[in-house]
Amino acid sequence: MNTFYDSLQAIHARIDQAKAQVGRNDTVQLCAVSKAQSAEKIRSAYEAGQTIFGENYVQEAITKQAQLQDCNIEWHFIGPIQSNKTQLIAQHFAWVHSVDRIKIAERLANARSSTMAPLNVCIQFNSSEEASKSGAGMDELTSLATAIKALPTLNLRGIMAIPAPSKDILQQRAQFKHVHKAYLALQQQGFALDTLSIGMSDDFEAAIAEGATIVRIGSALFGARVYAQAYKTV
Ligand SMILES: *Cc1c(COP(=O)(O)O)cnc(C)c1O
Repeated sequence: MNTFYDSLQAIHARIDQAKAQVGRNDTVQLCAVSKAQSAEKIRSAYEAGQTIFGENYVQEAITKQAQLQDCNIEWHFIGPIQSNKTQLIAQHFAWVHSVDRIKIAERLANARSSTMAPLNVCIQFNSSEEASKSGAGMDELTSLATAIKALPTLNLRGIMAIPAPSKDILQQRAQFKHVHKAYLALQQQGFALDTLSIGMSDDFEAAIAEGATIVRIGSALFGARVYAQAYKTV
């Protein structure tokens, strides 16, 4: 059986290869998506050198964080945000990738203690403009970015997107290119962004080719997710 260390090395090798293919020398960070993974698995991953972990479910994350207090983990919240969870998210995470409306940004900002470092946030961009998908549309990006910038306890870092899954690398690249354009457009409007959060297990190489600065990888690192009963609904 492979250890987590082997999986981690294999993912880093793929990240490096994807960068080399397009001549990138800058850093692509790895967010290990640990939803549905136990605290013990996260601890082994941490001991193998992984420090950034992404979680989707607030209660599940807080339970595991309590068991991992001795680890210097940078926790990223990457899931959909319900209004009644903003208090906990603002208190328990260093990053939030999935801010998709002003009301949520304001609630996070109010709940973030001014004694803590500002909460790093990305705007979730609905790149496929599907009504059913969460994320801000192209026409909402500027107003949302402006609102976030005015909130001193938030630090606007960039854009996150989850394009529709595709097995075709050209299709994947076209979708990520569209996200990258939205990111560049915001930069051109004067927003100082440094984070493009795109790419998951099945498409991270295409995302890196289109400028990802952080990829969010779960199953390719930890294996398929098996949801424990306790984590199912939170
Ligand atoms: C679950 C999840 C991931 C990781 O998905 P994998 O396909 O397992 O890599 C990345 N980003 C978000 C927002 C997720 O919900």
